[in-house]
Amino acid sequence: MILVLSSETSPADVDQLTDRLEWMGLNVSPQKIENRLCLAVLSGLDEHVHPEHFQQLPHVEDVREFSRPFKLAGTDLHDDRREIQIEDVTIGGNELTVMAGPCSVESEHQIMETARAVADAGAEVLRGGAFKPRTSPYSFQGLGERGLALLHAAGSEHGLKVITEVMGTDQIEKVAEHTDIFQVGARNMQNYNLLRELGKADKPVFLKRGFSNTYRELILASEYILEGGNEDVMLCERGIRTFETYTRNTPDVAAIPTLHELTSLPVIMDPSHGTGIRRMVKPLARAGVAAGADGIMVEVHPDPDRALSDAQQQLSTDEFEALMNELRKVGSAVENPVTERA
Ligand code: PEP
Ligand code: MN
Repeated sequence: MILVLSSETSPADVDQLTDRLEWMGLNVSPQKIENRLCLAVLSGLDEHVHPEHFQQLPHVEDVREFSRPFKLAGTDLHDDRREIQIEDVTIGGNELTVMAGPCSVESEHQIMETARAVADAGAEVLRGGAFKPRTSPYSFQGLGERGLALLHAAGSEHGLKVITEVMGTDQIEKVAEHTDIFQVGARNMQNYNLLRELGKADKPVFLKRGFSNTYRELILASEYILEGGNEDVMLCERGIRTFETYTRNTPDVAAIPTLHELTSLPVIMDPSHGTGIRRMVKPLARAGVAAGADGIMVEVHPDPDRALSDAQQQLSTDEFEALMNELRKVGSAVENPVTERA
């Protein structure tokens, strides 16, 4: 339920009304629709409460129902596409943001080399895992805090924003010191404790779709973050598990228009984990741009065959530069142009 308030409602009136609704056991969030103040009732409603009850409350001008279970991510409160602003970088809106970098931060030389190359080629955000969620506990687990510091230094040196994965609530504080964007990996998409804590953070969250999760589950996971007050959430399609085993995952290009239809959040495509095969990254990245993705996340390594994780899918720096040129062509053909770095 959304209570649209009259234009004369003062902040003190909103507080009073909020107290009253909370006293009734409702969880409400102040919002705006077309510059009009409103209170979104997120939970606590039961069958005994009817819209007419709300209509009689002071300052309530109109009572609307949510059209979908996606209350904050959906289009009832935001009918336009959201933009996430990180200083001079905008994610969402009418242009395409490219995020690139190694699967894992491995050494100072490796991350600096990659940062230089992806910045020269036109990426705006540097990715790199420091805490790695590996399938086997015996595989390389990332450099941890040292990796965070190296990633941060490489981003600063080359004018790139950085994104890195946070695997648990105990890592949030440390990761926040070094990153511009928190990445939540596919394996943690339904780690609701983590999502709730990130809802209180003051940095954007990049939420990857779980291998076996539906659009509905992904969007509802994003609601956990939004409900905490963090409005800067983007969704990432990174391929799902199907009966097909030739590719590592099945990249679901339809996720892009679907998530755009159901939500106002930026949608990013990850063709690297989506296919797991280097030669397939380019065609799928092109497909993502053509389908209207707000961004592409690609794994890039200066010596991909020797990468300590995901060696088969990382592009070389030259391959990445060629990919950027392709994405510029596709992007301008479909009015989804790659943002040019200032
Ligand atoms: C990653 O992007 O570093 C990663 C581990 O991907 P995913 O969570 O999609 O498997
Ligand atoms: Mn990887």
